[in-house]
Amino acid sequence: MAIAWQHLTEHSQQAIQQLIDLDTDNTLTAKNPIAIATWADRYRSQKQVSGVNPYQQTHLWHFVDLDIDHPNLNEACYQHPTSSGFASAGPSHDCIVDKIEAFSRELKLYHASQRRDEQQEAVLALKFLIHFVGDLHQPLHASNHHDNGGNKLTIIVDHKKISLHHFWDTTLVHSLGSDPVLIAQTLNQSITEQVIHNWQRGSLIDWTRESFKTAKEVIYTPLLMSGDSGYYNDPSHYNEAVSIVRIELEEAGIRLALLLNEDLR
Ligand SMILES: [Zn+2]
Repeated sequence: MAIAWQHLTEHSQQAIQQLIDLDTDNTLTAKNPIAIATWADRYRSQKQVSGVNPYQQTHLWHFVDLDIDHPNLNEACYQHPTSSGFASAGPSHDCIVDKIEAFSRELKLYHASQRRDEQQEAVLALKFLIHFVGDLHQPLHASNHHDNGGNKLTIIVDHKKISLHHFWDTTLVHSLGSDPVLIAQTLNQSITEQVIHNWQRGSLIDWTRESFKTAKEVIYTPLLMSGDSGYYNDPSHYNEAVSIVRIELEEAGIRLALLLNEDLR
């Protein structure tokens, strides 16, 4: 979100600030556009919220388990279930692709609504959307190799055993720095107009396919072929992973800005 913020129109920035001001949930994150990007993960780890179990209800929404050898989007999205109510209350068995689409649509419909229930749904849609566009660009959130998205595959990095998922989700991101705003400033410097133009092309499905392709061709294939759980101890493999993460974060930011500017127009 820190990257996206720099690419939002003033109008979108104001609309986001207004939605944040309307947010009645003040406990999980600070009330600012950068902090709310982690809300969906924090919400998921809550035990019980007004009669629902947030983990049961939302954890499948954070990824799409496209099988590395036989990717099938319809299957991975549980045949795209429909629901008549708000997307935040939608079926628990759904994938990140459907949820990005649904929350983006709701944000567009409800961000300027005067109805209280629609306003609160727009707040939720904003928080889920910001988070899920980021998750989709983490390749292990768009792929599966019978290992729970890399959660069950252990690798050794710096003499420590960690899961492949944790390495891509956390270790590599932290290697860029600890302050998301500073990371965003650095990454933004390398984003040219031409690059923005290229990244904004294509659909949500194309973005999903790209993330899947990175997982398959750049992460799983070389790692499994090497047969070595210390694959990333080789500095060239590690540095390649860092540069992929940088690009994924940049792409996620640019595409999130595109969606938000369209929805909040
Ligand atoms: Zn997540």
